[in-house]
Amino acid sequence: MISVSDVSKVYALESGDFFALKNTTIQVGKGEFVAIMGPSGSGKSTLLQLIGGLDLPTSGTIEVDGIELNKLNEKQRTLFRRTKVGFIFQNYQLLPMMTVGENIALALSANHAKKEEINSVVQKLLSDVNLQGKESAFPSQLSGGQQQRVAIARALAMKPSLILADEPTGNLDQKNGEDILKLLSVLNKEEKITVVMVTHDHQAAQVADRIIVVRDGVVVTDGNKGGNRHET
Ligand code: ADP
Ligand code: ADP
Repeated sequence: MISVSDVSKVYALESGDFFALKNTTIQVGKGEFVAIMGPSGSGKSTLLQLIGGLDLPTSGTIEVDGIELNKLNEKQRTLFRRTKVGFIFQNYQLLPMMTVGENIALALSANHAKKEEINSVVQKLLSDVNLQGKESAFPSQLSGGQQQRVAIARALAMKPSLILADEPTGNLDQKNGEDILKLLSVLNKEEKITVVMVTHDHQAAQVADRIIVVRDGVVVTDGNKGGNRHET
């Protein structure tokens, strides 16, 4: 599903070249739920952004669902992000001036669907994340956990084969965090969506089948839970 091969990401800083990722190689199989852990600044978000086609590696190749990201032009890369990947962020990234329904519809409308079709898909997505009846609410009127569920509904709009989640529970309390993890787990197990989740929360990482630990831009542990996982 995901093949990251010998990928480096270099940022040119005044102090010289900075390697956010150094010769990273990772394989993720279809249907896997992988957690990426590691200290702040170790390159976790950078890795997720590269897998999601938000940015390109300085060297190395990334393949997602048979698509070589390096070979796409800007337009193709945008289409890839829109159709293949559902992004979920720590701060939800909903548009505050739009209702819940409009936030989700926005992910669909560029698809030239009819208004009634969009409406019924929005209703279905809201019920999938257990937020029936909230389509007219504004994000600010919802709890953090509810906002994250809207973000997940939006991410599901284009039926992605991959969900990339960057600290999805980072702003949530225990209970709401657990609900979001449960939802991601259901999407993974029942809808067979591959999930890659960055988290610094050990408890959150337990929902994953596999934990990858990154430190200073290098993968230091990659294994099943209960394996040789004594990093961080
Ligand atoms: P993590 O997600 O593990 O906290 P990041 O991937 O966000 O780490 O960042 C890794 C390192 O790369 C950090 O030191 C960060 O400051 C640096 N970095 C990330 N993005 C940029 C950028 N656009 N320009 C310069 N440095 C960056
Ligand atoms: P995280 O909380 O996941 O570590 P950050 O808040 O560090 O993420 O970074 C958020 C965004 O800012 C990312 O897209 C990252 O690429 C960018 N970024 C991080 N560090 C830098 C930096 N030193 N210079 C420019 N952009 C950066």
